[in-house]
Amino acid sequence: MLRRHHSLVLTVFGTLMLGACGNSSLPAERVSAPGNGGNDAPVTEDRCGEHPWCDTSLSPAERSALVIDAMTTDEKIAFLAGDNLTGIAGFEGTHTGTSNGIERLGIPTVYYSDGPMGVRSGQGTAFPAPIALAATWDPDIAQRYGAAVATEAKFKGNDIVFAPTVNIMRVPHHGRTFEGYGEDPELAARIGVGWIRGAQRTGLIASVKHYVANNQEGIGLNPAIGPQLPLGVSVIGNRLFVDAVIDDRTLREIYLPAFEAAVTEANVGVVMCGYNRVNGEWACESETLLETILRDDWGFDGYVVADYLAAHNPINNFYGGLDFEPWPGLSYGPLQLTPLVAAGVLDTETLDRRVGNILRSYFAYGLLDRPAYPADEAQIDKQAHADLAGEVERGAITLLQNNGLLPLDARELSSVAIIGEPADNFQARAGSAGISPFFFNTPREVITARLEPETTVHYDDGSDPASAAELAATVDVALVFVADRSVEGADRLCIRLNCVDEPGDQDALIAAVAAANPRSVVVLETGAPVLTPWRNALAALVQAWIPGVDAGRAIDAVLFGDADPGGRLPVTFPESEADLPTAGDPTRYPGVAERAVYAEGLEVGYRWFDARGLEPAFPFGHGLSYTEFDYADLTVGARDDGGLDIAFQVLNTGTRAGVTVPQVYLSLPDVSDTVRQPPQALKAFDKLSLKVGEQRRVELSLPPRAFEYWDTQAGQWARVPGCATVRVGRSSRDIVLTAPAACSG
Ligand code: BGC
Repeated sequence: MLRRHHSLVLTVFGTLMLGACGNSSLPAERVSAPGNGGNDAPVTEDRCGEHPWCDTSLSPAERSALVIDAMTTDEKIAFLAGDNLTGIAGFEGTHTGTSNGIERLGIPTVYYSDGPMGVRSGQGTAFPAPIALAATWDPDIAQRYGAAVATEAKFKGNDIVFAPTVNIMRVPHHGRTFEGYGEDPELAARIGVGWIRGAQRTGLIASVKHYVANNQEGIGLNPAIGPQLPLGVSVIGNRLFVDAVIDDRTLREIYLPAFEAAVTEANVGVVMCGYNRVNGEWACESETLLETILRDDWGFDGYVVADYLAAHNPINNFYGGLDFEPWPGLSYGPLQLTPLVAAGVLDTETLDRRVGNILRSYFAYGLLDRPAYPADEAQIDKQAHADLAGEVERGAITLLQNNGLLPLDARELSSVAIIGEPADNFQARAGSAGISPFFFNTPREVITARLEPETTVHYDDGSDPASAAELAATVDVALVFVADRSVEGADRLCIRLNCVDEPGDQDALIAAVAAANPRSVVVLETGAPVLTPWRNALAALVQAWIPGVDAGRAIDAVLFGDADPGGRLPVTFPESEADLPTAGDPTRYPGVAERAVYAEGLEVGYRWFDARGLEPAFPFGHGLSYTEFDYADLTVGARDDGGLDIAFQVLNTGTRAGVTVPQVYLSLPDVSDTVRQPPQALKAFDKLSLKVGEQRRVELSLPPRAFEYWDTQAGQWARVPGCATVRVGRSSRDIVLTAPAACSG
């Protein structure tokens, strides 16, 4: 059942690079006191030495001030840029980034690794894609996921992990949709906070990215040449240049909250600024984003790292708020900075502040107060991580539709056709989320092992729809596996499964098989929404996302009912591309003259579909269980702090144990004719596993912020006057309980 996978990992620059490596590692979750409070990693010995700043009774700020006093100007300058690129290609023993230490001062060399769905140096555990993690609606499992990725990064000698990605899905075409947590800020915030807490508890520092509005890769000029190459080949709306033009309220309410929560709730240590511009300014130069919002408003005390090649102008970066530029230091290299500092163009006070932000974080996360971790892959519990990947996947698999054929009963099947190459392969992605797995299993092998010898199992790779249909006509059940090709560096040209940048015509494959056998089940292994024009001809439709290394066991468990499908959609599946807020308007997407105007404002994802009364194929929050749940007895109670306590009863009324995800949406009244509210917005949720007949009272609290909007004129959050309506449902379109609440103003 275990297979080895060897793949060539593509690089940020589209080339392969090799180099020497080094080892080290291990800091802690942010703590106010020095040391490693909150960090599960054992403290044995430090690597700081006898310097005055090694006194752990001093605060991180005091310790960093002492180091700065001891540093030469050249050392300070060198500290702001990364050194030798070793690991962009992801080879064994390499790191995505390196920052040389200063030996005479006891400052260690620090190593960085990608990434959001696993580590990218040599082999690692490929977890289900972050979009799948979002589909679990489970912040606790997000913690375990973050902890497992960080643990692998640690035992590959890294100190900092470039993850999670919390950019909001604005357009489903975005090539990196799979790397983020979907279209809703509250869900993205909850999952992101979980991931960071889990990661930082292992002793690594998380680096939330890409700050902010890094929401498209761009599209290529000539789709006819076939699949887009990863990384930077897009020419229209390219991530490296595009200017996201966004009003303040939309920025604060949609695109910033997941970053804000990462800082204020999870104490993330590093923020990575993105390639793009925001309202005319480069994200890595924007004083508004990097100083006013990040540090003044949210109290961020860590340091800001540029995405690779995202820093262009030393003066603007320096005064805008960038602290560190990884290799190759085009903006912050000594060559650029030294003359500017010597001439006084870059002042020493700001230089000390930039160095201090980095050093203070090193101390706050305990980086100098523990030994470097040697790279030691043997310490990774690979099987436990594969099992966790499977648990995440079972919790993420989303049953979109079912006429009752699922779950399958193996005893009733005399023949099954498994169709489609994704059934037989590991679903890899390229770019910074490209992972070469230690081992993996596939749906084909696990399902075959379950069924044979009583049942005849056939396999067809799906490359010829006619022959697949011929096979399907002869079997009890046809299982069709299809996948998309979403990838970093290029957006999908369309969201159909027969788009020119997809391999073959998978829409035709599904239609042909379904026409040949109504007992057809489609398993989507896509990283983003796709159109489903053939769905009414199917017996069942399952979204398995990009399923990770335990894909076979997890998909098998759900198809045959060993596990209830735990996932709910973190994104809307539209009926047609014409229904999207950006449709038919290139000024919105992909942008004209490298400006993408976010004219839809707050109406992103389901907010748009609700406001326009559009019927999606499958709504945000949707996902079926194999059992039924009743929600009843909603009570709401105002809290003294302006928040709201909510409680309701959930009962499993079906005949099987199962999972339900109660979702709480708020409808807020319009503030005025110009300050309007989306019809509803997700504010809280829970996830329950209930046995047959089991009942539980769900209790949730909404913070005061749930009732606020960003008052652009005042430049602050303000309470929405009037009464809100609390809406509790099984999805954004399956609301079963409502109550008026929190009347004010
Ligand atoms: C990506 C980042 C990644 C970095 C290093 C960039 O191209 O945008 O997400 O962390 O490369 O691989």
